[in-house]
Amino acid sequence: MKPLAVLSVASEVFPLVKTGGLGDVVGALPAALAHEGVAVRTLVPGYPAVLAAIPHPDVVYALPRLFGGAARLLAGRAGELDLLALDAPHLYGRPGNPYLGPDGREWPDNALRFAALARAAAELGRGAVPAFHPDIVHAHDWQAGLAPAFLHYGTGPHARTVMTVHNLAFQGQFPHELLAKLGLPTRAFAVDGVEYYGSIGYLKAGLALADRITTVSPTYAGEIRTPELGMGLDGLLRTRAPVLSGILNGIDDSVWNPATDPLLPAAFDARQLPRRGANKSALQARFGLAPDPGALLFGVVSRLTWQKGMDLLHEALPAIDRAHAQLVVLGAGDKPLEHAFTAAAAHRRGRMATLIGYDEALAHLVQAGSDALLLPSRFEPCGLTQLCALRYGSLPVVARVGGLADTVIDANEMALAASAGTGIVFSPVSRETLEIAIDRTAALWKTPVVWRRVQVRAMSTDVGWTRPAKRYAALYRDLVAHDPA
Ligand code: ADP
Repeated sequence: MKPLAVLSVASEVFPLVKTGGLGDVVGALPAALAHEGVAVRTLVPGYPAVLAAIPHPDVVYALPRLFGGAARLLAGRAGELDLLALDAPHLYGRPGNPYLGPDGREWPDNALRFAALARAAAELGRGAVPAFHPDIVHAHDWQAGLAPAFLHYGTGPHARTVMTVHNLAFQGQFPHELLAKLGLPTRAFAVDGVEYYGSIGYLKAGLALADRITTVSPTYAGEIRTPELGMGLDGLLRTRAPVLSGILNGIDDSVWNPATDPLLPAAFDARQLPRRGANKSALQARFGLAPDPGALLFGVVSRLTWQKGMDLLHEALPAIDRAHAQLVVLGAGDKPLEHAFTAAAAHRRGRMATLIGYDEALAHLVQAGSDALLLPSRFEPCGLTQLCALRYGSLPVVARVGGLADTVIDANEMALAASAGTGIVFSPVSRETLEIAIDRTAALWKTPVVWRRVQVRAMSTDVGWTRPAKRYAALYRDLVAHDPA
């Protein structure tokens, strides 16, 4: 089979820049796709952390005037990643969070920062760098959403385009006065172009103009076509349903492997489950909980936001109390929720602890040391933490939405009778149903033999990238074969 060349375009890439699942996916997919005969180059903004990762880059292209300054495309390898960094100090020469300034607000020039990324992607998609002719430009989320638009409204032959939605809640909307500055023609400001309720919608543009649209789970691909979860874009997505599909995310199973994880006090696998106990003890010690191996220990690794249902969890804490269970919360997000969880923990010393912050290493310990992981999301495009939880034998307790519905099998009575079930799934999403799910988890905990069986099944769930990578490769090949440039 002819190898395919793909330019992946995103604002985050693990391990260099990550604020959430987007970074994980963009970082892990290239290595998995390499096994499918797809060569991926990843274009990201030249943030300081990215430039530091390619200290001796090749300068492959110059963009002398890119929104108020000179820019260059730098090529280099960082680990397994074949990177193209858009070096534009006037846009990206700022340390810290890729989207927010030191005051915690969006950078005021984010419209230009990410239009620049898309412009560079479009130039590459038109063959600007002679040694690199991508067959496909694959844009991730709103930050790359204008890439299909620049290609569509430009001239000459160009790569086909795929737009992937990692979260429809983030759409990138900016004033229509920017149109000329962005270099888009007047006709682009139309319902079937970049116009979105009188503004310019970056994600909307990608969804309207890409050759194919994917999102990160089959269930979410359906949900976003409904008014309830379509975030104002459901009409467009219904129109584009023939080219819309859902491909589940995986996790990097070399980073997330309990048998080799250097971040754990005790490595383990499904055949050595008792060794997991040392991680539970370490987690209890780290969070100042009572050192009780018999207590059911719930974990949370999440953004503390409405989307993640964290307000519902806060309301449902009495169910955790009733079960005499323990809870560790690792997360950051909305200030009122941060305060609420910190205060709740202060009232439950030894039984509950909250750590506000983002701590990759600690996330591993929570996965390996907790007995169950709570994810009461109101919507969840895919979700990665439940995949880590499955692999680490922490039973996911999840709302039946999006990728959570696609990846966790409810351990109800019939499932157990059929030797199935990998977690607890509840629906609809409410405080009451979450409390019932917590009660069900506590009931299951009281039958250790059954718990252990569910845990072993959870740990044998295929959560890696091999299967998803085959689906992306098939989609790319189908696109190139049936929809040639
Ligand atoms: P989202 O991208 O919506 O936040 P995902 O489940 O897709 O949710 O991805 C979240 C990623 O971020 C996972 O890799 C998870 O382990 C990680 N993560 C979230 N919060 C924290 C935290 N407080 N500390 C460490 N890792 C976190």
